[in-house]
Amino acid sequence: MGARKAYVIYRRSDAEMPARAEEVHHARQEGIDFQMLTAPVEFVSDGKGWLTAAHCVRMELGEPDSSGRRRPVPITGSEFELPLSVAVMAIGTTANPIVQSTTPGLGTDKRGYIQANSETQRTTRRGVFAGGDIVTGAATVILAMGAGRRAAGSIHEYLTTGLW
Ligand SMILES: Cc1cc2nc3c(=O)[nH]c(=O)nc-3n(C[C@H](O)[C@H](O)[C@H](O)COP(=O)(O)OP(=O)(O)OC[C@H]3O[C@@H](n4cnc5c(N)ncnc54)[C@H](O)[C@@H]3O)c2cc1C
Repeated sequence: MGARKAYVIYRRSDAEMPARAEEVHHARQEGIDFQMLTAPVEFVSDGKGWLTAAHCVRMELGEPDSSGRRRPVPITGSEFELPLSVAVMAIGTTANPIVQSTTPGLGTDKRGYIQANSETQRTTRRGVFAGGDIVTGAATVILAMGAGRRAAGSIHEYLTTGLW
């Protein structure tokens, strides 16, 4: 997308990275600069709302945590500033809590994902259909497309018959 330089900032090392090995390999081939054992601690703005840098700290690996991966521990005095103009946070996905708080009658499970019938994609609220990651949790494009296709059929049926 035209960036002169792109980084992945990751607080653990290659061994703990939950990405596919080939994806990491290809990213390196494309020139991505992997800043391993590094954590951003603060984003710096120019005072007009634009990002100028990330304050980072180097890490070292300590004892394993509950996930079985060695816990990263900051190295005192290792802070440095990395000039940046765009930062993309990539730290996992969950359902937006707005889903439950704004839409009465829309059933969600204990993780906050929308409950939908797996054949019709109907939710617990009349006239509302759902599919994809907001129903399954983080999954795949093909599953989301399948749900979209089933939902389209169900929506057509609902609109033409009025039956729920
Ligand atoms: C880094 C990463 C890599 C991935 N790699 C793969 C891969 O290689 N292969 C694969 O199959 N899958 C991959 N996935 C998973 C895949 O991207 C998802 O499973 C898929 O995009 C889910 O589709 P979706 O339509 O359910 O949700 P999304 O694609 O997330 O679409 C939801 C849309 O709703 C919009 N939206 C949210 N809130 C509102 C609102 N209030 N009003 C209006 N619009 C709103 C969002 O902006 C977004 O455009 C990856 C995911 C990530 C994060």
